[in-house]
Amino acid sequence: MLFRLVLLFLLLVASPVLAADRIVYLTFDDGPLAGTANILDVLQAEQVPATLFMVGMHAEANATNRALVQRAKSMPLVTIGNHSYSHAYNHYRHFYGDTEGVVADMLRANTVLGLKPAVHARLPGRDVFRLPSMSKDDNSLGLAQAGREDPDYEFVAASGFWLYGWDHEWVHEDSGKPVQSVDHLVSEIDHLFGYGHFVKPGKLILLMHDEMFQDAFDGKAKLTALIAALRLRRYAFGAIQTYD
Ligand SMILES: [Zn+2]
Repeated sequence: MLFRLVLLFLLLVASPVLAADRIVYLTFDDGPLAGTANILDVLQAEQVPATLFMVGMHAEANATNRALVQRAKSMPLVTIGNHSYSHAYNHYRHFYGDTEGVVADMLRANTVLGLKPAVHARLPGRDVFRLPSMSKDDNSLGLAQAGREDPDYEFVAASGFWLYGWDHEWVHEDSGKPVQSVDHLVSEIDHLFGYGHFVKPGKLILLMHDEMFQDAFDGKAKLTALIAALRLRRYAFGAIQTYD
């Protein structure tokens, strides 16, 4: 009897650990942009870890953006990641045709953003992972193109970068307006955890873009609502350093 009580007690004590087996990693790409300040406001208010994969060219565009980088750096729960200097000028095939150019572009963003190896990074336009424990190519590319680009990924990784793709995206329209409602997104996340098909078991990397969180799209309220809904379902929020 006593043994059973002890067992029950242990199970109850252990349950928060079970909940923490479902971790969501919030990631925001392409900033600093309109929307970045709202993201930082919400992260600060909610005390939630997140990674902002920033674009060097955007970071040095003006004083406002430079200040946003500094503000993000001052926040202990925020990690600044490298999302290239040029964002490939959105011509991905051309960009990835030049391995030395890709490496140089990534290193230039390190200089602008003040990042030192090992740098957490996401390649522009590519859902690629290169981490000490695993490696995964972009399934949307096809084997031939992925094969052609593989040297780029390897050289970037060897130059002091940990590369992260994603498991799911909060999609946006061309204007930046989010497509899924918060409720819909949360139900998608619930389903994904039900199936459990993640790059790493129990860990979901959620891709979002800074421009989605502008005032025009009610960005602060939506991000706050997402965090509240995920908390209510007992998901934990992970810092990227705990991912690999
Ligand atoms: Zn991007």
